[in-house]
Amino acid sequence: MISTNSKELLEMPIHDFIIPAEKVAHVQIGNNAEHALLVLTKTGYSSIPVLDSSYRFHGLISIRMIMDSVLGLERIEYENLEVSNVTEIMDRDIATLNINDNFKRALDLVINHAFLCVIDDEGTFVGIMTRRVILKQLKKYVYQPKS
Ligand code: AMP
Repeated sequence: MISTNSKELLEMPIHDFIIPAEKVAHVQIGNNAEHALLVLTKTGYSSIPVLDSSYRFHGLISIRMIMDSVLGLERIEYENLEVSNVTEIMDRDIATLNINDNFKRALDLVINHAFLCVIDDEGTFVGIMTRRVILKQLKKYVYQPKS
């Protein structure tokens, strides 16, 4: 049974929990795979968003996707890093949150993703919501004394 407290949490708007776009490491359409690999390695993040110059969200790119793309039959084809574009490698089929979604939708989606990209109605990237932030909120509610 859903208690009043959890109902309150599940219906909470997500906007207070978003890491804003300006704080999110990303690459742009037009960047090559080498640049994306550099950003991913330097930041230590497993995957980052791919945006266009208007900050519209297009997909996610990860070190694994990049390494898969240069994996030849007998060797790693490092020379391809410079010539391949992030758009050829990134995953476009990504579940996203809308800025107006509630906590329940984030909770449902985050089970399979370490973080979720948040977009507005125009498809502009607003930021990310991480599993860490969602679990922190959940913990707060689970440990809260019953009212
Ligand atoms: P965390 O919960 O901090 O471990 O983040 C989980 C994942 O979310 C990371 O591996 C990244 O893929 C992504 N992430 C978190 N913070 C950022 C950020 N500031 N910029 C880009 N990606 C991020």
